[in-house]
Amino acid sequence: MVCEIETKMIAPAAHRFLLCCILHVWGCREDFMETYRANRHLARLQALIACVLAVFLLSGCQTTETFRSPRGLQAAGDFNTVVIDAGHGGHDSGAKSAKGAPEKQLTLDTARRVSRILRSSGLRVVETRSGDYFIPLDQRVARSNSLRNVVFISIHYNWVKKSKPSGVETFFYSPRSSRLAANIQREVVKNSGSLNRGIKQRGFYVLKNNKRPAVLCELGFVSNPSENRILQTGAGRQRLAESVARGILAEKAGRNP
Ligand SMILES: [Zn+2]
Repeated sequence: MVCEIETKMIAPAAHRFLLCCILHVWGCREDFMETYRANRHLARLQALIACVLAVFLLSGCQTTETFRSPRGLQAAGDFNTVVIDAGHGGHDSGAKSAKGAPEKQLTLDTARRVSRILRSSGLRVVETRSGDYFIPLDQRVARSNSLRNVVFISIHYNWVKKSKPSGVETFFYSPRSSRLAANIQREVVKNSGSLNRGIKQRGFYVLKNNKRPAVLCELGFVSNPSENRILQTGAGRQRLAESVARGILAEKAGRNP
C-alpha cells in the first residue's frame, strides 16, 4: 500500500507554454524597440518579465532532463549495490490485515530476506530501515541518491476495501527502470503463482525523486484472505523474497524480459 498523493507529470506542458510566451516576446523585438524608444520603463519591465520566464523555464528543464537524455546516467544493469526499502514502519503501520501482522512487519521481514540472498550472491546491500521505526520518504530516497551504481527496491504489500482483488504488481517511474520492474515482476509471478497485475508507471515519491533506477513492489494483498494466509507465513515471504532477488540478479545480468 502506498500512502501518498501521486505527483502528476504536468511540468512539461507548463514549460512548453512558458517557452511560447518567451518566443512571442522575442518575435516582437521590433515592437519592443519601438516601445523602448517611446517608454523605456515599460520596455524594461517587458524585458524583466521575459528574463523571469526564461529562468523559470530553465529551472524546470533541469528537473525533466533525467528522462530526456540518457547521457551520463547509470545504465540499466550497471550496479553493485542494492538499496532495499522496507515500506512503512513505526507509527506508520501500512496496510492492516484482518488476521496477522500489519504491512510494516511483513515488509521488514521480506526486505531482510531479500537482503540476505543478495549479500550471499556478492552484492552490497543498504537497508533504509532495520527495525520498527519510521523513516520519512525523502530520507529513503536520499540514501539511494547519495550512492553510486545502485538500484532502489521498495517492498510493500497491498490492501483494498474489497476482499477479492489479489496478485502482484511492480511500479516504476523512469523508463530506464522499466526493465528492472519487468525482471522482478516476471520472477515473482513465475515463482509465487500469484495473479500478474503487471508493471505500471506511477509518480510515487520514492520513485519520482530517485536519481537511480527504482521500483516499488506490491507483493500481494493482505485484504485477500487466501493471499494473506500465505503472506503471513515465513515460507510464503521467503518464496517472494527469493523471487525479488532473482529478478534483481536477472537485471544485473542484463536479461531482457
Ligand atoms: Zn505499503
